Amino acid sequence: MTDTPTAPDTPLDGLSCHSGAERMEASARAAGNAEMLDAFARDYPQGPHDKPQSMCPAFGSLRVGLRMRRVATVLSGSACCVYGLTFVSHFYGARRSVGYVPFNSETLVTGKLFEDIREAVHQLADPARYDAVVVTNLCVPTASGVPLKLLPKEIDGVRIIGIDVPGFGVPTHAEAKDVLAGAMLRYARTEVEAGPVQAPASGKADRPTVALLGEMFPADPMMIGAMLAPMGLAAGPVVPCREWRELYAALDCGVAAAIHPFYTAAIREFQAAGRPVIGSAPVGHDGTAAWLSALGDAFGLPAARVAAAQNAFLPAIRAALSAKPIHGTVTLSGYEGSELLVARLLIESGARVPYVGTACARTPWSEPDRAWLEAQGVKVTYRASLEDDLAAMEAVRPDLAIGTTPVVQRAKEMGIPALYFTNLISARPLMGPAGAGSLAEVVNAAIGNKDRMARMRAFFEGVGAEDTAGVWEGAPNLRPEFRAQNLKKLEKKARAAKAEEMI
Ligand code: SF4
Repeated sequence: MTDTPTAPDTPLDGLSCHSGAERMEASARAAGNAEMLDAFARDYPQGPHDKPQSMCPAFGSLRVGLRMRRVATVLSGSACCVYGLTFVSHFYGARRSVGYVPFNSETLVTGKLFEDIREAVHQLADPARYDAVVVTNLCVPTASGVPLKLLPKEIDGVRIIGIDVPGFGVPTHAEAKDVLAGAMLRYARTEVEAGPVQAPASGKADRPTVALLGEMFPADPMMIGAMLAPMGLAAGPVVPCREWRELYAALDCGVAAAIHPFYTAAIREFQAAGRPVIGSAPVGHDGTAAWLSALGDAFGLPAARVAAAQNAFLPAIRAALSAKPIHGTVTLSGYEGSELLVARLLIESGARVPYVGTACARTPWSEPDRAWLEAQGVKVTYRASLEDDLAAMEAVRPDLAIGTTPVVQRAKEMGIPALYFTNLISARPLMGPAGAGSLAEVVNAAIGNKDRMARMRAFFEGVGAEDTAGVWEGAPNLRPEFRAQNLKKLEKKARAAKAEEMI
């Protein structure tokens, strides 16, 4: 006999991230998920940006699962959410099936959905094909308390990982990656504690390793490995990992490096395994010098070994930075979690960066970067909302705006050259000598487009904008009298709300 989820008082299956987040959160709390939501609030503290302004957060954890070999992924959520998530996954080349357990109001409230998920997991758990099956509750099943923790922990040797990734609890897709990475590390840690586990496919490193937290450009871990060699260290696996046995190797590291600073749950697992954690990353001259010396301290290495690595690489970094300078003012915003690192590199390349906005929260692991940037006069905004990013860009009117899609769109409307952070900036090497100067080409080319942007803007001046944008066969059917009437209604409503506040 298995416990079944508590039926919510009112149907939730029509709600989404565009409506009813508070109701879903209240329902999730009533359905026994209060502790989990409190843990999310501690791990991913919310600021002004407390609801998705970008893609569904669950995309982060979905992508982490889909990129792992021999791991099956099952979603449980509203069909529209699952459609969007699978669409984006395949857009980004997932080349894997995403399992889906559909539901309706009846299966949700009677607990049949949980039974359906359990059946799906039993059908999928074939040890010849999979090491693990990841089941993810999206918003509605989380709000209804569908109890994934009651799934079997393992079926025929296939590990079963159940996670809740609600948009009303996990603010960004970056942090959703941490939810799954943390859950997998926790599972792997209990396996390590219980007895011998598989060695990594590439064999055990002969030197102490540094596990690297955060998805990065494929050449970056190799570059980091080269910088670690003079210190007698090796680069360990990158977390999120690509296969299950890498999790054991990651936990077996000497130090974990939080290259991306938002992996709160994963870091907790490293700390529980007794591994020290350092923040920031080897970006640019100052960043690399500080990171190598923090690593030396964490390992308790003699100063000469740290100096050997610094002497081997810092001159090359300085040379690469000065060979490819960036001249111009850049505003920077994104939701990948690596924004502060990119800003450091831009500044060391010669750019003026007055503003950096990140959708992620402030954590101890980005403190060295925040302090360095603020010392250079940069305004760093954590949990930056789209409004923060737009206001900064509009006030500064930079030579280049690097940002999310809506920021780029607004910049182009204003005739400001712009680049997408996710596709064009975060998909480049950033670490060590390979990262120094890697941004210059794309950034300088974009800044060089300023005149072209101005010409395009002048050319299209007067063509439909805002509510008259689009293709019209005749003149747009403007109704200024309706607009005036509506404006009056809104003003009246605002006055009434203000009066109510004062009572
Ligand atoms: S699962 Fe994602 S898309 Fe669906 S309601 Fe939640 S946040 Fe929105």
